[in-house]
Amino acid sequence: MSVMVPSKTPAQTTPGRQALDSALHQLGQAAEHLGLDDGLRTMLATPRRSLTVSVPVRREDGRMDVVQGFRVQHNVSRGPAKGGIRFHPGTDIHEVTALAMWMTWKCALVGIPYGGAKGGVAVDPGTLTTRELERLTRRYVNEILPMIGPEKDIPAPDVGTDEQTMAWIMDTYSVNAGYAVPGVVTGKPMQLGGSLGRAGATSRGVQIAALSALGHAPEGVTVAVQGFGKVGALAAQYLSDAGCKVVAVSDVTGAVHAPGGLDVAALRAHVAETGQVLGYRDADVLGHDELFELDVDILVPAALEGVITEANAARVRARLVVEGANGPTTPEADEILAANGTVVVPDILANAGGVIVSYLEWVQNMQAFSWSEGEVARKLKDLMESAYGEVKSMAAERGLTLRQAAHVIGVGRVAEAHQMRGLYP
Ligand code: NAD
Repeated sequence: MSVMVPSKTPAQTTPGRQALDSALHQLGQAAEHLGLDDGLRTMLATPRRSLTVSVPVRREDGRMDVVQGFRVQHNVSRGPAKGGIRFHPGTDIHEVTALAMWMTWKCALVGIPYGGAKGGVAVDPGTLTTRELERLTRRYVNEILPMIGPEKDIPAPDVGTDEQTMAWIMDTYSVNAGYAVPGVVTGKPMQLGGSLGRAGATSRGVQIAALSALGHAPEGVTVAVQGFGKVGALAAQYLSDAGCKVVAVSDVTGAVHAPGGLDVAALRAHVAETGQVLGYRDADVLGHDELFELDVDILVPAALEGVITEANAARVRARLVVEGANGPTTPEADEILAANGTVVVPDILANAGGVIVSYLEWVQNMQAFSWSEGEVARKLKDLMESAYGEVKSMAAERGLTLRQAAHVIGVGRVAEAHQMRGLYP
């Protein structure tokens, strides 16, 4: 039996389709290694549920625009589906499916009882007013309402969404339910049941993964970060706090470079004020592509998928790539990096801190209870370090890259859960 995936023609090849091809390639390698049968491979390659919705939104001038929205539950064998919601003009059903699949393996890898999901709306949030964004969010949530809920599918922030978006989602769901349901989303503001430590959790996890992979003291270790949003900015901050020298960062507008090290806190203040890294006084301007080619110890891609490809991988000089973003490295680039001795700490491990603390937030919501920031930080560190240790050992024992080992563990656990539950009817 062949693997059922949507057919591909050159005209359909979008960045989202390329992300899905990468995810399927990684799954294929893990399935081969695990010796999974064709039926199980097909099941793991296809999402359990996919919904495409039209989202009408009233603009301030009275016009009505209609944008596409998506929610995909890739797998729910190990627990409720879990995954962020992305507002980005380039998002499509393929990208959301790839991101949902990576969520499934990530949750299994770090040992939290969730399946994988993702959502997206094909819109540029920067072109909407706050009121338009609120209307868009509420209407999108209303369209996907039958799929989500604290016991079945729990969204969280991703590219272009934040804790305000989560507050609107929580309110829209709660109004429909007739009572407050904080556990329907994570990454909420503290006043609505958010968890201490959630805002910086993905970045803290990136720092933990980077320092574990480094294997020596971080003082003076040089770092470049692509993407200076929720994940990238705090990853830069935490790595800098640990003693690393962050020499370059970029956002969608451009890149800045200071060979002596950037003052990350001052740069974050500049971005908070102006909305972009460009214009920061104490740095030179760098080309987008040049950031990937800097002679640094650690490169942290923390923006979007498919940025390290066969076109630029050979020019990556970093010794370590720590993937804050999901899917930043294509399979072709992976091979080039491995051949050049660059170690890649893969997305499903490196950026798992977000979903780990999301899980802790959900547990607190379900029990109407809250943990201290220290408690949350300790649990995050334990889960990240133990997942890193398992991946590292599996890679060493079986001669795999860290990505291959992480997928073998994640995919293997999901396959096992599925086999234990059996097939209904
Ligand atoms: P965000 O919207 O807060 O930030 C994205 C950043 O990337 C922005 O600074 C934007 O300007 C920048 N960017 C976009 N295109 C770029 C380009 N071509 N070059 C350079 N910079 C560019 O999003 P985020 O939540 O920080 O997510 C970033 C990545 O991390 C995504 O891949 C996301 O799926 C992943 N991730 C996020 C979380 C989370 O908790 N937010 C958790 C796990 C993984």
